[in-house]
Amino acid sequence: MTQSFGCRRCYGEDAEAVWVYYEEGLAVEQELVGDSHFLVQLRRCAECGQQFVWIFGEAVDWQRGEDAQRREIVPISAAETEALSNLEITSMAALGDGRRHLVTDWPTAASRPAIEWATGELRLPRGPHS
Ligand SMILES: [Zn+2]
Repeated sequence: MTQSFGCRRCYGEDAEAVWVYYEEGLAVEQELVGDSHFLVQLRRCAECGQQFVWIFGEAVDWQRGEDAQRREIVPISAAETEALSNLEITSMAALGDGRRHLVTDWPTAASRPAIEWATGELRLPRGPHS
């Protein structure tokens, strides 16, 4: 499969380096879901203009009183961006199918997040509407 997404900075091989870039280099364009425990944003790479869906989920850990955090950041095409506002959150999971996306997992017990490229359906956090 040919990759036609992004540039070296936003879609390079090194997941940790890409993540460092994301924190500064991906500007929020639109917020599709904005909840303190569940966020879906449309972001754009400042370097190449590639658009991404940025999904953030937080699972409250009642026993420890801390929250486990997970982010999934998927590049999307212009056509998908147009369709996105009509897209059901649940069908958004298919965007990750066969497409590399960055996942950061920060379990409650860990001191730092695990950052890696993944493929396959997105494991969307359970939002308030699911
Ligand atoms: Zn880029």
